[in-house]
Amino acid sequence: MDLVAQVEEMFSPMGILSRAKNFEYRPQQQQMAVAVARALQNRQHLAVEAGTGVGKSLAYLIPAILFAVAERKKAVVSTHTINLQEQLSDKDLPMLEQILPVKFTYALLKGRQNYLCTRRLRKAMQQAGNLFTSSETAELQRIYEWSKETEDGSLSDFDVEPEMRVWAQVCSERGLCSPKLCGYPSDFAKEHGVCFFQRARNRFLSADVLVLNHTLLFTLLGGVEEEVPGGILFKNDFVIFDEAQQMESVASRHIGLSVSNAQMRYPLHRLWNPRTEKGLLATLRKGAAVKLVAELLDAADAFFKDVESACDGLSHRKQLTLREEDSGRRKGRAWTELRIRQPNLVPDTATLPIQRLREVVSDLIKTSDDKEIGQELMECNRRLAELREAVTAFLGQSGVDCVYWVERSGKTQKNVTLNAAPVDVADYLRRRLFESDTSIVMTSATLAVSARGERRNRPAMEEAHRSTSPLGYFAKRVGAEAATLLQVGTPFNYERQMKLFVVSKMPDPREAGYADALEHWIEHFIRQTHGKAFVLFTNFKLMLELGERMQPLFDKLGLACFVQGTGTPRSTMLEKFKADVDSVLFGTDSFWQGVDVPGEALSNVIITRLPFAVPDHPLTEARMEAIEVRGGDSFQEFSLPEAILKFRQGVGRLIRTKTDTGVIVVLDNRILAKKYGQAFLDALPKCPVEIV
Ligand code: SF4
Repeated sequence: MDLVAQVEEMFSPMGILSRAKNFEYRPQQQQMAVAVARALQNRQHLAVEAGTGVGKSLAYLIPAILFAVAERKKAVVSTHTINLQEQLSDKDLPMLEQILPVKFTYALLKGRQNYLCTRRLRKAMQQAGNLFTSSETAELQRIYEWSKETEDGSLSDFDVEPEMRVWAQVCSERGLCSPKLCGYPSDFAKEHGVCFFQRARNRFLSADVLVLNHTLLFTLLGGVEEEVPGGILFKNDFVIFDEAQQMESVASRHIGLSVSNAQMRYPLHRLWNPRTEKGLLATLRKGAAVKLVAELLDAADAFFKDVESACDGLSHRKQLTLREEDSGRRKGRAWTELRIRQPNLVPDTATLPIQRLREVVSDLIKTSDDKEIGQELMECNRRLAELREAVTAFLGQSGVDCVYWVERSGKTQKNVTLNAAPVDVADYLRRRLFESDTSIVMTSATLAVSARGERRNRPAMEEAHRSTSPLGYFAKRVGAEAATLLQVGTPFNYERQMKLFVVSKMPDPREAGYADALEHWIEHFIRQTHGKAFVLFTNFKLMLELGERMQPLFDKLGLACFVQGTGTPRSTMLEKFKADVDSVLFGTDSFWQGVDVPGEALSNVIITRLPFAVPDHPLTEARMEAIEVRGGDSFQEFSLPEAILKFRQGVGRLIRTKTDTGVIVVLDNRILAKKYGQAFLDALPKCPVEIV
């Protein structure tokens, strides 16, 4: 039987899957699985939107496993979140091991720095007096004790994670890893056993299915220099991206550059920390190099201070222009991200001292008779070279079609980062992924800018050409124009499970009564469901203000209200919200997506504002500008589809199972008053609508 027929049979009402616990025949799942099987078999790419409840992970895992085993290929499955990674490796794959008619192996692929390097640990223990302060030495001892007990030697096996400064000196590092010295046949391996990293590496090299996250995938992709025969990362592999809506942003972060004052300090402190007087140079007692490190630390600090002051000046000038153009509407905002449009923001006072230090360190490497210290020094030099190149590239703005910006972060805004990213990652992804001779499958609950399949009761599967498909926008952004685009329907009955309320009388946010109206309607709808509500905002300050204003009401109603950004970590907030069925949660950005609250606890999702991105972020601004420059309409081509995708994600929080019911409330009358409002309404599954 060919793969497509085999998969179709497995997902049928009487197929092999029906033996699994809780199996329920879902035509949407079957159709997605068949489409994945067909794409793999024909070496095609596929982007498929499969809403909540379709059971998409099995719909791609089963064809992927059958295909990988039959064709001796490797299935690389990439997720964005740890939750999904854990669901695949702890639940779905072990279950499939039990029921599939083929034997297969799988492994979780973690970055190498997650693993202990036993050789570095041994050396660090010998040199502890020179490298570590007394509290760090105690931490090193804890790592040593743990190394005797740990199963896989990776960070996740700690009850309490070690201090990163110490771990960084004992974890596996590409530039320091020398399987020749400590590989399987070496004396080191005979004496100390084969190291954790090599064991993990063997496991993942021989596995049929590899699970990893997008960040690691793009990091590894960046390290692949030559074309891999028949594959992307490994010979004869194929890749499945779940949570594919995040591909663009993760890729963009990895292709670009990012260098901060903290990153600059790190390799320098590894050489010599003037405060603790510890570091690699302490093992060599080289005064001249120590002096250079101290000077470079000062020079780096001064350089980043110059960057900050130059940005303050630019921001000030920008504010003045805005005030003239915009009647002072955006006055007085301190910058957190500032776009740098011209090269040479500040004089380059950093790269020459870096180069001087590198030369001295190179001499030390030549004269050092301790090979392992020599390798550590080489690694520091490699890192310093990368930093030097990054600073030069940032100041010179040498990247083609890149946007440059400076970011201030941290509690006291003390961390300053120089960034660059390509305005468009489609080109890169097209070249590195979609022009290869293997399949790329992308899936997510939200990839399309409309839910037409669901609204018009079409057959569950809809294949279409890019230009007409609701998935065309996504495909274009990630360079997957060659992919088959598919939107499977939903197993949920939205007409019965969900109702939409739109408030038509909302004032404009610029009007004085806006916050009062918002408060009034939030109260109105929260009373209707007695809590059990997410209130989603696009404006952090407004959310905090409303949270404070409405606290007395919640106290009166006996409802707990959790407000994002008031001290409780996001995951704790969510756990508390789930546990307290009647509670209310006020959230911004991260609560619009990737949050799963099945059952009664979430019966009401209040969308305070259509989620148009503020074009303040340099990357957003540059993307919109690029569209305008080529004569396009940045609102239609970028802002609107992005907002619709986010809106659909927000709405998608409500119905998570077949038995969930609830209301969606939209407190933004642009959905009725503006021409584009219909596009948002079309983005929702067909359900009763009431305008109030
Ligand atoms: S192979 Fe690499 S990670 Fe393993 S002990 Fe040797 S240097 Fe360390």
